[in-house]
Amino acid sequence: MLKGGCFCDEVRYEAEGEPVHLTNCHCTICRRTTGAPFVAWFTVPRSRFRFVRGEPNHFRSSTGATRGFCGRCGSQLTFASDDAPHEIDVTTCTLDDPEALPPEDHTFMRSKLAWVALADGLPQHAGSRPEPEPEPASAQAAESAATER
Ligand SMILES: [Zn+2]
Ligand SMILES: [Zn+2]
Repeated sequence: MLKGGCFCDEVRYEAEGEPVHLTNCHCTICRRTTGAPFVAWFTVPRSRFRFVRGEPNHFRSSTGATRGFCGRCGSQLTFASDDAPHEIDVTTCTLDDPEALPPEDHTFMRSKLAWVALADGLPQHAGSRPEPEPEPASAQAAESAATER
């Protein structure tokens, strides 16, 4: 069980299920809506995520996505894409234990700030994480691994 909430504790959530898509997102929307250089996220099934105290406010941050945040202290909590109705993204650093879910890659590197220097050795993607596909993906992965080293 993953537990977390906003800074002021007015909004609390719980999530179950295997967290996936652990990433640091460098997109301009994450940056602007949080005021942070990049934002760590994880994804869980929407059916296994619930608010257990308070209710967040929501706003549409792009045509296809809604973000939830505490209306009192402003912590950004969730990202829900219309294209992925069965998933919800949650900000890793609103977890009670953010150490439990270290990010596994960096996404939207094309928007990364020049003064952010990464030294964690994690995979970096120009945009969103490429979805794993049976055949071409493994060839692609081998190719990018070859060029990176
Ligand atoms: Zn709050
Ligand atoms: Zn983002």
